[in-house]
Amino acid sequence: MKEDAALLPVEDARARTLALVSPLPSEWVRLEEALGRALAVDVRAQRTLPPWDNSAMDGFAVRSADLTAPLPVRLQVKETIYAGQTPRETVHPGTCARIMTGAPLPVGADAVVMRERTRLAPEGEAVDILEVVGPGHFVRPRGEDAREGEVLLPRGTPLGIPELGLLVGQGMLTVPVPRRPRVAILSTGDELCRADAPAEGRIVDANAPALSLAVLRAGGVPSVLGIARDTLEDVYQHLVAAEGHDLVLTSAGMSVGEHDFVREALEKLGVERDFWRVAIKPGKPLAVGRKGGTVYIGLPGNPTSSLVTFELFVRPALRRMLGHPDVEPPRVSGRLAGELRKPEGLAHYVRVTATWQDGELWARPLSTQTSGALRSAASATHLLHFPRSSSRLATGDKVELLPLSWGA
Ligand code: AMP
Ligand code: MG
Repeated sequence: MKEDAALLPVEDARARTLALVSPLPSEWVRLEEALGRALAVDVRAQRTLPPWDNSAMDGFAVRSADLTAPLPVRLQVKETIYAGQTPRETVHPGTCARIMTGAPLPVGADAVVMRERTRLAPEGEAVDILEVVGPGHFVRPRGEDAREGEVLLPRGTPLGIPELGLLVGQGMLTVPVPRRPRVAILSTGDELCRADAPAEGRIVDANAPALSLAVLRAGGVPSVLGIARDTLEDVYQHLVAAEGHDLVLTSAGMSVGEHDFVREALEKLGVERDFWRVAIKPGKPLAVGRKGGTVYIGLPGNPTSSLVTFELFVRPALRRMLGHPDVEPPRVSGRLAGELRKPEGLAHYVRVTATWQDGELWARPLSTQTSGALRSAASATHLLHFPRSSSRLATGDKVELLPLSWGA
């Protein structure tokens, strides 16, 4: 317990990691390449959208002042306006225009009555309006989406699909966003071999491919540097090869074993260590440091631990590099289905499957929680935060859940 007291709480470890990174220099990229990054400048609208008042419904464009009880009110139909057409007639009192969704509102009209609230009059070019509507009814006003000159999306706006749609609507083809972080990934361990070169008595390096995909999904550009053997010199040489990246991720060799050389190799390289060891399970032997423009994160070796710590520390750091203002892992509230116990001292991140039932998200811990077993991460949908100072959680207890970005 005494040792645990010296470990850094998860929140502090994340804050200190994030303090080492900032948005990367920006580049102009095509819109589809910008998805998931944040805007590097304020974008002003170059066009007013929609360019004219237009109809939100198929129906009749009317003067709302014409519609007074008793109903129905009979109006002469002057023309039909389809989307993409320009109205030819003015709507004078006692008249209207048949109009389709998206078509410009004719001069004189100030409201639209939907077709379902009308009846065609028996004598041809007239319609009976069956309801009273006020000005603006079913009218999409000019400039509702954008007004020329205004800031449409401020700098720092994360670009999701609607934001990119807005930019396309402005005729923009490219946009400035932080460039993608270049991330080197280094596996360490004498027991490891590559999947395409299996060797007797060795296990396949699972971390590099998994972390590489996690980096890709988080918007970074991974480069896998291979496997370093458990010697100071080999780890050091691989780290030298990783120089120039924005982020270097190592896995394993972080503990205090005789063959754990990563920390020593980082020191030899001149990396200034910010912290080592976090009050967390899985993932305690995490180390973070910096040298020049490169941040180094030493992840634990167990495949599940490396993925959990990726979610908690690496992904937020990558999001910050991509310009996002809010990089804390997303959290939702749920309830525990089952019971959990642990000693105080470490925050546990328990792999659970959470399903929606009776208006709540119920989290069921997976039966295997060993950090070595990737299988225990395989069907997890969320990580359940079992706080450091707590030792028991019971069925029905309210819990904090982190949705995982691992899944299919
Ligand atoms: P270490 O931190 O070096 O003691 O490694 C912890 C555990 O993770 C050991 O059982 C290692 O065999 C395993 N491990 C380390 N690196 C990898 C890797 N790249 N792929 C699969 N397992 C690994
Ligand atoms: Mg090792």
